[in-house]
Amino acid sequence: MDFALTEEQVLFRKQIVDFAHKRLNEGVVERDEASTFDRAGFMACAELGLLGLPVPEQYGGLGLDVVSCMVAMEALGYGAADQGLAFAVNTQLWTCELPILKFGTEAQKQRYLPKLVTGELIGGHATSEPGSGSDAFAMQTKAVEDGDHWVINGSKTFITNAPIADVLIIFASTATGEKRGFGGGLSAFLVDMDTPGVSVGRPLHKMGLRTSPTAEVTLDEVRVPATAMLGRKGGGAAIFNSEMEWERSCLFACHLGAMERQLERCVTYAQERVQFGQPIGNYQAVSHRIANMKLRVEMARPMLYKVGWLKDRGERAVLEAAIAKLYVSEAYVQSSLDAVAIHGGYGYMAEYEMERMLRDSVGSVLYSGTSDIQRNLIARWLGL
Ligand SMILES: Cc1cc2nc3c(=O)[nH]c(=O)nc-3n(C[C@H](O)[C@H](O)[C@H](O)COP(=O)(O)OP(=O)(O)OC[C@H]3O[C@@H](n4cnc5c(N)ncnc54)[C@H](O)[C@@H]3O)c2cc1C
Repeated sequence: MDFALTEEQVLFRKQIVDFAHKRLNEGVVERDEASTFDRAGFMACAELGLLGLPVPEQYGGLGLDVVSCMVAMEALGYGAADQGLAFAVNTQLWTCELPILKFGTEAQKQRYLPKLVTGELIGGHATSEPGSGSDAFAMQTKAVEDGDHWVINGSKTFITNAPIADVLIIFASTATGEKRGFGGGLSAFLVDMDTPGVSVGRPLHKMGLRTSPTAEVTLDEVRVPATAMLGRKGGGAAIFNSEMEWERSCLFACHLGAMERQLERCVTYAQERVQFGQPIGNYQAVSHRIANMKLRVEMARPMLYKVGWLKDRGERAVLEAAIAKLYVSEAYVQSSLDAVAIHGGYGYMAEYEMERMLRDSVGSVLYSGTSDIQRNLIARWLGL
């Protein structure tokens, strides 16, 4: 086993951290309060190549392997105080660009990837609906074939990037009759947001990740050509599962980076904050909390990178991605609670970042499948 990063990975990591400090962090408290998306920061991420990490050079990307993508995302999470912006970047990469890259036709790749990589287009994906979240295969959105077109009707909710998106991958049922479930006729469509019948609701006000815009999307008699279908008819479940492997590893590598920054901040604070005549880090109640935070970071890293390693070998990593996602998200929330406790009253105040990190972290146990759903998945792999 070789745990060392390559020289290129180390350099890229440093470049991203420096970039994030310089370009992404100013004004984050105000943006969080106003729920404002940092479009300029997003474009700066594109300029650095972050929006094209896994995309081959022929479409304008960097063509990196999975582990290198994870290193980059860990660096972004570590450097960027604006986790909402990092979330928007991740959403575009793993739920829009990757599916196009893996399942798209050459024409679809040519049409979308170069502009997504430069940030000229913003994308995302839409599976969740008011009545179907965890039970994604119960979705009511339907696509019906009409000559050489499909007509889509339905409504989606909690859609990241929707208020700023140019294109969304919309999942819809193309099943006929009673056929449902995993193999039961979910399909994915590339839907341009200016297509007649597509409407985006007002942005949803969230607990955390407020700088990442989220909204409902309604599809009313949306007509798209047959060429808008991504992958094959009924192939939506496979696309969704492939996306989730990437998202559960790379997005959560970003969260790992945030946990590392949080840990460093707590160590510094525990060294500097004096109560009862000595630094609070001298009290075991505080130092053990920090030791537990360190433990979580060290456990999270190999779990995540194992997913990247497997994927780079061309292997599936459904189980490993579920394990990593579950562990990292719950560790992130617990460490965020610890970080607030270590900072005392200051931890509760907006300018100290810890309260924002706690709010940001909570979403991670919900999106990409809740913790319960990951446990169900793991149990199923164990034959239960
Ligand atoms: C910040 C954020 C961004 C998001 N972005 C997107 C996006 O871009 N696109 C998109 O499509 N969706 C997005 N989502 C939606 C997300 O995928 C769903 O919230 C998630 O899948 C859970 O669905 P739900 O909210 O309907 O909860 P439900 O499925 O209703 O679950 C409610 C509770 O019941 C539990 N539960 C449900 N079924 C089971 C079961 N079988 N066994 C055990 N427990 C169960 C859940 O774990 C949970 O605790 C986002 C969500 C958040 C918070």
